[in-house]
Amino acid sequence: MPSTLKTKIEFDIIIVGAGPAGCTTAYQLSGKGLKIALIDKDVFPRDKICGDGLSPDVINQLNRINPALAENFQKLPQKKGWSGVRFFAPNYKHIDISFKKKTQSASPAFVSKRMDFDYFFFKQVQDAPDIHLFQGHKITAIERLENEIIVTSDQQIFSGKVILGADGANSIVNRKLTDTKLEKHHHCAGVRQYYSGVEEFPHDGIELHYYTDILPGYFWIFALPNGQANVGLGMLSSEISKRRVNLKEKLKDIIENHPNIKDRFANAKPMEKIQGFGLPVGSRKVACSGDRFLLLGDAASLIDPLTGEGIGNAIRSGRIAANHLLEAFAKNRFDAAFNKQYDKEIYRKMWTELRISTYIQRMLRYPKTLSFLINKAADNRSMQVLLTSMLNDIDLKKELRKPSFYSSLFFNQSKKQKDSISQ
Ligand SMILES: Cc1cc2nc3c(=O)[nH]c(=O)nc-3n(C[C@H](O)[C@H](O)[C@H](O)COP(=O)(O)OP(=O)(O)OC[C@H]3O[C@@H](n4cnc5c(N)ncnc54)[C@H](O)[C@@H]3O)c2cc1C
Repeated sequence: MPSTLKTKIEFDIIIVGAGPAGCTTAYQLSGKGLKIALIDKDVFPRDKICGDGLSPDVINQLNRINPALAENFQKLPQKKGWSGVRFFAPNYKHIDISFKKKTQSASPAFVSKRMDFDYFFFKQVQDAPDIHLFQGHKITAIERLENEIIVTSDQQIFSGKVILGADGANSIVNRKLTDTKLEKHHHCAGVRQYYSGVEEFPHDGIELHYYTDILPGYFWIFALPNGQANVGLGMLSSEISKRRVNLKEKLKDIIENHPNIKDRFANAKPMEKIQGFGLPVGSRKVACSGDRFLLLGDAASLIDPLTGEGIGNAIRSGRIAANHLLEAFAKNRFDAAFNKQYDKEIYRKMWTELRISTYIQRMLRYPKTLSFLINKAADNRSMQVLLTSMLNDIDLKKELRKPSFYSSLFFNQSKKQKDSISQ
């Protein structure tokens, strides 16, 4: 142990990672009399490689944590609203799917750089009672003893009754405390590059482009404020390996040569080098807890396998973890058997959606099927629901559980059915 390390500081809860998952739990447990360490290797504001898409589910989750939090978010200037998606099929045809706006002025969803969104969230917990922040502390070792967890950063030793792994896709908490291994069939890779000056389509939405050689995956353009755009590409890791795809080269190739895309980048300028990061997707169940630990968000593989969205589920898992910990401290129980309730609750709340997304992801990997479905969507209401559900709208995902949805997928619907589906 390096002699420069300070003496051990004792906490009730050690949260590793101050992204959306970690900040949610810290926010929810603040003021409850528990001494909490919130530790991050970076200093905020910090970047996180992401599409920066905040779906309606994210806004809903903020509201569920605290309506005041959602209201504060509405005041954040660094965001751009969107109210729908333009889907491009492998045969280049497209369809627009829109959300119904709750009010004329309020957008149901946003694009906001993680540099801004995560900093917004971080500031909400920065001065909250009971939260002790440690920025620029990279956790390098975790030791589980009978009655405590010892966590070591490059500068400090921490002790806690329980540790939360909210430390993202490469979670050290997951690596040290579980046997879960990365499986390429349940993992995606994504690359992102910020641009300025991309010619926008005249529609109020984000764009997802499903082209033959990148299935199962998609290319995206998400418009940001100030004429900037988040441009990227994500694909299933097993297919990347099998087909030896170089994602960074593929992104460049689409931007420079794709007939649907290249003209829109004629006057555009990249603002950074292309950067990549992993997405552990929720197409399988993994261990989310054990003796004295819980895993949250990406560390628990909760990213939607179809859309690549993980912020909503990261927040959702943070809320579940906070409730679980209140019970754990009330009962003084931190053992694996007790923590199993956390896993149960995680999958009770999320597995149906994750399973449906996995199923659709597998179905949509065939270009002909996808082109057929998107063409069909132009006059088939159920297909529009299917595509809209990719945005993770909870009400619409409920539609996918109904047998009537599947029976009407390949047939145009009756007026009665059409009216029964609410967007
Ligand atoms: C290319 C790409 C595009 C994506 N696009 C979208 C999108 O548009 N919309 C969406 O909803 N989701 C998207 N996602 C997924 C989304 O980024 C994640 O699901 C989300 O960030 C998960 O939040 P989290 O809090 O679990 O982890 P993170 O946001 O990754 O936060 C983890 C935190 O832990 C810290 N940390 C890590 N290791 C350590 C350590 N050893 N010691 C201390 N601190 C540590 C990190 O610095 C970080 O701040 C995308 C992901 C990728 C890769």
